[in-house]
Amino acid sequence: MTHPRFSAINAGMKHPLDITILPVFGDNYIYLAHYAAGKCVAVDPGDAGPVLKELNRQDLQLTHIFSTHHHADHVGGVGSLKKKFGCEVVGPDAKRITGLDRVAGDGDVIELGDITIQCIATPGHTATSVCYYVTAASLAQPVLFTGDTLFVCGCGRMLECGGETMYASLQKLTTLSDDTLVYPGHDYTEENVRFAMMFKPENEALQKKLAVVQNQNKTGQPTVPSILAEEKQLNPFLKATDWKTFAYLRKQKDVY
Ligand SMILES: [Zn+2]
Repeated sequence: MTHPRFSAINAGMKHPLDITILPVFGDNYIYLAHYAAGKCVAVDPGDAGPVLKELNRQDLQLTHIFSTHHHADHVGGVGSLKKKFGCEVVGPDAKRITGLDRVAGDGDVIELGDITIQCIATPGHTATSVCYYVTAASLAQPVLFTGDTLFVCGCGRMLECGGETMYASLQKLTTLSDDTLVYPGHDYTEENVRFAMMFKPENEALQKKLAVVQNQNKTGQPTVPSILAEEKQLNPFLKATDWKTFAYLRKQKDVY
């Protein structure tokens, strides 16, 4: 099922790295990253249908799939896409991601055409979650695919790890370049901004962000990507000064 509000976005840009945003299941995002002439990778293809349709529309060959973690809404399309394209499946968890060809370990680097994709282990949402950091000489800003670890103004639930682990993973991401474009696995942005405002209702930056996000939602635009510098300024989970504060906030969000 494609998102009712919009379908493919940014499909007309030039590679590298031309990213097409495919909304699925109401709030998931699948990303197609077009990195060389006629070639692209898919990040977290939870559903094969919209990916196939878009590959066909843009006449692209799918060479790789990058999975951030094993949840079905992120890997549901892997099997049929691999069958059709014979693409290489990269991900962190051979036990729980069917069809994995290459295990993505912390610090592993994969070069595709002009781009470099670095795997960053970010346990927390799941014990084996990873993020992918993409750089290229010709890329104005680095790109970070964060799965369900970091969301715009929020973070994922801690399903398999404790607060200390997830906090350390998020802090690791804050050391990346401030101008990094953040592409998360879900669009929970408006809810996240409202949650952040509960603690800081007078914060002007959050008020401005809420207005921008509401307008994006109203006009059918995606609320991604965000910029890491903005996350460091607005995201309460990144701003937490220690893991216990972080864990308290995460617990509040679980029942929000
Ligand atoms: Zn998940």
